[in-house]
Amino acid sequence: MAIRLTKIVATLGPASGNKASIKSLVAKGVNIFRLNLSHGTHETVRKWIQWIREVEEENHSYVGILLDLQGPKIRVGKFKEGSIHLKRGQRLTFTTEKKIGDENLVPVQYPRFHQEVTKGERIFLDDGNLSGVVKQVSGQRVDVEIQTGGILSDHKGINLPDAKLTADPITAKDKADLKFGIQEGVDLVALSFTGCAKDVKRLKSLIQKQGGQGIEVIAKIERKQAVENLEEIVKEADGVMVARGDLGVEIPFTEVPVVQQRILREGAKHCKPVIVATQMLESMIENPRPTRAEVSDVANAVMDCADAIMLSGETAVGKHAVAAVGVMVETALKSEAYLAETRSIDSWSRFFEGEPTINAGITYSANRMVELLNAKAMVVFTISGGTAKMVASPKPMVPVFVFTPSLHRARLLNLVRGTVPFVVEEDKHLLLHMEQLIIMLKKRRLLKKGDRVVITTGIPVGIPNRTNIIRVEEVP
Ligand code: ATP
Ligand code: MG
Ligand code: MG
Repeated sequence: MAIRLTKIVATLGPASGNKASIKSLVAKGVNIFRLNLSHGTHETVRKWIQWIREVEEENHSYVGILLDLQGPKIRVGKFKEGSIHLKRGQRLTFTTEKKIGDENLVPVQYPRFHQEVTKGERIFLDDGNLSGVVKQVSGQRVDVEIQTGGILSDHKGINLPDAKLTADPITAKDKADLKFGIQEGVDLVALSFTGCAKDVKRLKSLIQKQGGQGIEVIAKIERKQAVENLEEIVKEADGVMVARGDLGVEIPFTEVPVVQQRILREGAKHCKPVIVATQMLESMIENPRPTRAEVSDVANAVMDCADAIMLSGETAVGKHAVAAVGVMVETALKSEAYLAETRSIDSWSRFFEGEPTINAGITYSANRMVELLNAKAMVVFTISGGTAKMVASPKPMVPVFVFTPSLHRARLLNLVRGTVPFVVEEDKHLLLHMEQLIIMLKKRRLLKKGDRVVITTGIPVGIPNRTNIIRVEEVP
């Protein structure tokens, strides 16, 4: 059975936030759970984390937890009936007063909303599904004429691409949520509305200060400014997310596919994992089968060698959460099988500018060696995760078995395309024990007799960022 290379991230929500669902989702193939603090309370999310860890132990697998900070997202409040119907041409009032909404009144949860919008500016709702124009501002009340109607439900997001917003990407709520996440032992934190590398740095130092050493930061690319500062953000962050929902409102949505390509390229170049997110199988929130266009979107992300593909509403509030993961798994396996027939790894020049390091030379050559010798797998040893990320960055078409002494590292590697993590004791004589590890992989049916394996490591053992050996073994 082929090993899937592309990782799957699934968002938990009311439709999936119970132990039985978490168990089925992991069994189907989820590698990382995203917990979106825009919606869940600490109480609920704490239980989810506990269940994920229980399932992880019961299944003898590694599952990463990604805490998504809300950031300065402007949201509507609650409605009497949970939602309202907006009609084209209708005029209604948005207010920052603390009120419950109805057919004529939309509460907004951002206190400076009425100060930062002006007459004539566009307002988008629910990732741009609904839209309107500001007609008048008086006190805390903003009159809006609806241009694109539809259903607006509790807590949907608001985007104001024309307004100059003053909000900090790390809000007071985010700080409290971060503290909570660190206490609960999450593996990764996603920074919403990242603008530049400095924002990522600030979050990293907050994490350090609060004792969250080792937690990785995923920068969500969803603002125009982030697209402009892409390279510095990718360099500073541990990974990036193509957050297509807000992105497609902040820039014209017709530009999103090109920006997605640029982000994938930049990620590969700097050995940083890239998650493609939002609306991948959107119609499966309601329907048991996706549209062909959605399946193509998933397949194309896989064929562009995204590290991970993500489900949002499909698993958080969808009626077919497990089936959606199943569609991703099947589509990924089929697309990868095709890719394996046709693809050779990208050229050296795409990854390394200037004088390459020895690490880079070894890891890249190991990838070439896999192709030359038709090897079936790669093996690396890593403490910091850096070697694994580097070996995976030319996007090999075989799995990379990663041995690491750290459970946290194993969980993090669940975001890196192609890696299959194993936790082992620290071992100064790894090369001597190589045969045992290969036999273990054979026993688990991950390799078979005669398979060639390309191994990269560093000698002496235990020095970070020293990869200087390539060795090839045949499974006995
Ligand atoms: P973001 O901008 O961070 O992606 P979002 O509002 O788009 O935020 P998603 O996590 O992408 O949220 O989920 C898509 C939709 O699923 C949301 O708009 C919301 O309606 C619903 N949803 C997600 N998580 C929850 C939750 N925990 N409780 C209630 N509804 C949720
Ligand atoms: Mg979203
Ligand atoms: Mg978003």
